[in-house]
Amino acid sequence: MATERTLSIIKPDATRRNLTGKINAVFEDAGLRIVAQKRVQLTEAVAGAFYAVHKERPFYGDLVSFMISGPVVVQVLEGENAVLKHRDVMGATDPKKAAPGTVRAEFAESIEANSVHGSDSLESANNEIAFFFAQTEILP
Ligand code: ADP
Ligand code: MG
Repeated sequence: MATERTLSIIKPDATRRNLTGKINAVFEDAGLRIVAQKRVQLTEAVAGAFYAVHKERPFYGDLVSFMISGPVVVQVLEGENAVLKHRDVMGATDPKKAAPGTVRAEFAESIEANSVHGSDSLESANNEIAFFFAQTEILP
């Protein structure tokens, strides 16, 4: 296994309910290290560009509106097999299908307001990290 980095976003439903620390504890307990982190208010243009891959999906407009409805915390997580490990502790997109103990099972409000984003592959992770962070902001 290799040390990887992945991009994580704590979404507006979770920052609104003051869950940043509880979610970070899940990540850290899983062996993921928070090597960069910032709280930001996304704009429609930035959220739209970040989720451009979903442009044709019926939920795209609502997703962008949700992602700009309050501050988010964007993070780089580092660890062994970080991309898959992070996806595992996040749980399934739909919290009704997420395994017990996962972030989405514990905290998500709905399939849209599902508390966290995580890169789905190493290639996406590299692109998504570069989208939000300069190399100098990442401090292992
Ligand atoms: P994931 O975040 O698990 O990688 P996707 O990449 O498929 O899931 O979708 C991106 C985000 O879009 C989801 O996390 C969720 O916020 C939202 N989303 C996905 N599917 C739906 C849906 N059917 N209805 C509403 N929102 C959705
Ligand atoms: Mg995805």
